[in-house]
Amino acid sequence: MAPIKVLFLASEAEPFIKIGGLGDVAGSLPIALRALDAQLEIHLVLPHHTRIDLSSYSTQSEPPVKFSANNVKYVAQPLSLVSGDVKITFISGEPISACEKVYSTDILKDADKFTFFVFAAMYHCQNQGWRPDVLFANDWHTAISTHIVKHNLMGSFWSKTRTILAIHNLAYMGAGSEPVLSKYGIEPVESDLLPWWGKHVPLPMGALAADKIVTVSPTYAKEIQSEEFGCGLDPFFQARSNDIVGIVNGIDLQMWDPSTDQHILARFSANELKAKSDNKVALQQLVGLPEDPSVPLLAMVTRMDQQKGVDLLVHAANLLVDEQFQLIILGTGNPEIEKECLQLQSAFPQKVRALIKFDSILSRKVYAGADMITMPSRYEPCGIAQMISMRYGSIPIARSTGGLKDTIHEGETGFLFEKADPIQLAECIRKAKRTFAKRSAWNKIQLTCMAEDFSWNRSAVQYLSLFQELLREGK
Ligand code: ADP
Repeated sequence: MAPIKVLFLASEAEPFIKIGGLGDVAGSLPIALRALDAQLEIHLVLPHHTRIDLSSYSTQSEPPVKFSANNVKYVAQPLSLVSGDVKITFISGEPISACEKVYSTDILKDADKFTFFVFAAMYHCQNQGWRPDVLFANDWHTAISTHIVKHNLMGSFWSKTRTILAIHNLAYMGAGSEPVLSKYGIEPVESDLLPWWGKHVPLPMGALAADKIVTVSPTYAKEIQSEEFGCGLDPFFQARSNDIVGIVNGIDLQMWDPSTDQHILARFSANELKAKSDNKVALQQLVGLPEDPSVPLLAMVTRMDQQKGVDLLVHAANLLVDEQFQLIILGTGNPEIEKECLQLQSAFPQKVRALIKFDSILSRKVYAGADMITMPSRYEPCGIAQMISMRYGSIPIARSTGGLKDTIHEGETGFLFEKADPIQLAECIRKAKRTFAKRSAWNKIQLTCMAEDFSWNRSAVQYLSLFQELLREGK
């Protein structure tokens, strides 16, 4: 069989640039797919954002890409390198260098940057005569590529290419891009499936055109078909339910490994769990909480955003204050939520620490030292923190939603509660504390957590079979 050619279009990818979960996926998945099947030809194309520094890589300049859209001429400059057997190309050009940030608050600037990027990336493949079997777009930034393929906006070169749109964050659709799409000659789509407001917006247009829609967990794939989570597109997703697939993300097992982590005080593994308690005492000491290996130490590592339910945890901590526990919250973001956490610390200085910052090294010490990690998310497409915490033998206490529901098994690898409600969360924490008090039961949960397979390989196997299914279906 001829090798499958896959074009990945993304706005960010580790290690070059990472803002959120999409950066993890676009950085890791192409390499995991290639490691799984050496027959795959994978080409990842990224915008050459001004913040990307490629000086330590060996790069190759490719011929400039000249194209016109709606009678306006554009020029892009590709630069490529190879990493983990994956070809990665960075696209430069005026609309990209005009933006200081990866994502700005000015939608017109972002829409111009990403629409230019999508056309340039696709024309680059065309110029090279490299015809993808599968085009894999991610989030609103690159969603319009599936529309370009479906509506033949770049001609017959793409007529056999099958398309996937992966949704990592449905809340951002690219609304406001309309004038920019028109500038590039992309008109509103005609469809009874989309609501009126979505017919000239990149994410709904891309989802409508895509052969398959992927979400980053099976539960979230179902949830987006409901009014609560669908952001107004739930009727559309219901109509396309046969084409929606949920595949849970992985984590980098080398990067997140308590037996080799140089940033924690004492390295440990499932065979040598005792050292985990040294990390706990070291963490208590570091943040200035009473040093006590027996008190249940809860923690949360998070963006401070409504989505994450930090306010629910603050409320639950108030309900539990007469009981024995300690709580460390590491996070930054919304100033109101930050303030609530600091107020909780002032009210209960012997129990609570609010560390208002983004600190990757400290997060490792927290994952290693905590007994329990809380994730009371209002919605959670996949979630990474629960997988990291399980790998570090810290048991998740989470709302049963999205990827949290798919990766945590109640009573076996964590504790789940149903409603975004502080009373339910407090009750769930109590349940976890009761198990914590029984040492052998707790150890069993820790060992089960640490044995879970969160490798990217597991996700790559599912993506590969999705590609194969698409190609079997043909066009
Ligand atoms: P999201 O991508 O929605 O923010 P995830 O759980 O998928 O949530 O991933 C969050 C990642 O960011 C985790 O790796 C977590 O450890 C990290 N993180 C979040 N906040 C902080 C922080 N304040 N300091 C260090 N790491 C953080």
